[in-house]
Amino acid sequence: MTIKTAQFIKGIIGSDEILKDGRKQIAFIGRSNVGKSSVINSLVNKKGFVRSGSMPGRTKQMDFFLINEDFYFVDLPGYGYAQLSEDQRVKLKKMMLWYLFEDKNPTRKVVLIIDAEVGPKDMDLEVLDMLKLYELNVIIVANKSDKIKKSEIIKRLAILQGQFPEFNVILYSTKTNEGREQLWEELLL
Ligand code: GDP
Repeated sequence: MTIKTAQFIKGIIGSDEILKDGRKQIAFIGRSNVGKSSVINSLVNKKGFVRSGSMPGRTKQMDFFLINEDFYFVDLPGYGYAQLSEDQRVKLKKMMLWYLFEDKNPTRKVVLIIDAEVGPKDMDLEVLDMLKLYELNVIIVANKSDKIKKSEIIKRLAILQGQFPEFNVILYSTKTNEGREQLWEELLL
């Protein structure tokens, strides 16, 4: 995939005209520190394009990036931040749930990023259950696959895919770019 242009358009916290402009939206979600910003940066081939979710002040809105003047990447706040107050966490979760489940959009795809080595955590399973229930178009990206031994990798993918038969699971590494082309193919379908 050739990225000709990638630009930040705006961050929103709720209803906004950008949601209704007819462009396809590809949304990224995942636990804090799972590598969500690194995955977006590797997809657009730009280091530092999206700042790490762990940076202060980076967690509060849904950021829209226009890719190749065609479709949006939507960087949703990560979940499971230890450093946020309970209040802030509830607010962010509500915002994510609103975007995913109330603001209906048939063109939307959701990329849920998990840690390939650690596997899905409770919060991931909770979100995945809802995504399944609402029949959203979901791709699971198992990031940090470079941390898994080569001899284990096929087994790990089979285990993850077996856990989520209804979703496509892609092993990914932002360090080696494993999975990048496969993910782009899925995103552009
Ligand atoms: P975010 O909080 O989900 O946005 O996560 P970041 O993109 O900031 O990444 C969190 C940490 O994971 C950083 O230290 C990254 O360098 C590291 N990381 C991200 N992707 C990978 C990967 O594919 N492999 C490895 N080994 N580390 C990664």
